[in-house]
Amino acid sequence: IVHGGVSSNPKAENDKHVKDKSDRATQEQVLDGRTRLVLAGLVNRDIIGPFTHCISTGKEANVYHATASPNRPLSLQQYSEFAVKIYRTSILHFRARQAYMEGEHRFQGEYTSSRNPRKMVRVWAEKELRNLRRLEQGGVRGPKAIELKENVLVMEFLGDGDSASPRLKDAPIEADRLPDLYAELLIAMRKMYQHCRLVHADLSEYNILYHQSHLYIIDVSQSVEHDHPRAFDFMRTDIRNVDDYFRRRSGGEVNTLGFRRTWDF
Ligand code: ATP
Ligand code: MN
Repeated sequence: IVHGGVSSNPKAENDKHVKDKSDRATQEQVLDGRTRLVLAGLVNRDIIGPFTHCISTGKEANVYHATASPNRPLSLQQYSEFAVKIYRTSILHFRARQAYMEGEHRFQGEYTSSRNPRKMVRVWAEKELRNLRRLEQGGVRGPKAIELKENVLVMEFLGDGDSASPRLKDAPIEADRLPDLYAELLIAMRKMYQHCRLVHADLSEYNILYHQSHLYIIDVSQSVEHDHPRAFDFMRTDIRNVDDYFRRRSGGEVNTLGFRRTWDF
């Protein structure tokens, strides 16, 4: 995989140059032996083919671009590539997740009964899968969830060729498109609440991709049920992040009030 290949021999890798050392450190944090087995399983089942590159290395997960297996099942024919999100299994990053998990009746039993870090990461990954499915069912743009195996989530790759679509933060967008995109995002947030019954809880220009001239919501592993005790706190922060961002980016032209003026509500 990227820094060596799913089936690469760790012994051989150890003999490689010193310059590989930092790569290896990155790799070993995410790609422990168990994770490599999971990836090998996805390859053997003709879902994913070779990994081409790493799209993102984050605190909680790395995201890779993978080509789809040429022998993939018919149901996956439409995808020629995937984004593969691999959640870290190290315990260091768990504490921050607790506020989101507590009060989640969907995951209460699993969460409280588990003292096993691998199992907790699986619950977290499963939460992202289920939330992505709910976005899809509720008609909110996001990557389609394809497959989940333990801490590895395979999803639709949002990009052009093998280059990933930019985050809203980095997207080249004409100023005159900002009001429309802002409106689109507000509608998506409302749908997410009304139809998907979820609050994103980490929504910002970092977790929105600009893909084929539309905004796609990603990174929903921490999203909570609409009736989570802190749902409205998270919702307020989401709205503020989005509003602040559009106001800043548009030099004050686009914001909740501007939106109201423009559309004459
Ligand atoms: P971090 O710890 O950095 O916040 P994360 O856990 O938040 O990582 P995501 O936000 O889901 O992970 O994904 C990280 C990055 O990977 C995104 O900012 C985006 O650039 C890219 N990415 C994620 N999903 C996809 C996708 N389906 N298609 C293309 N790129 C993606
Ligand atoms: Mn993110």
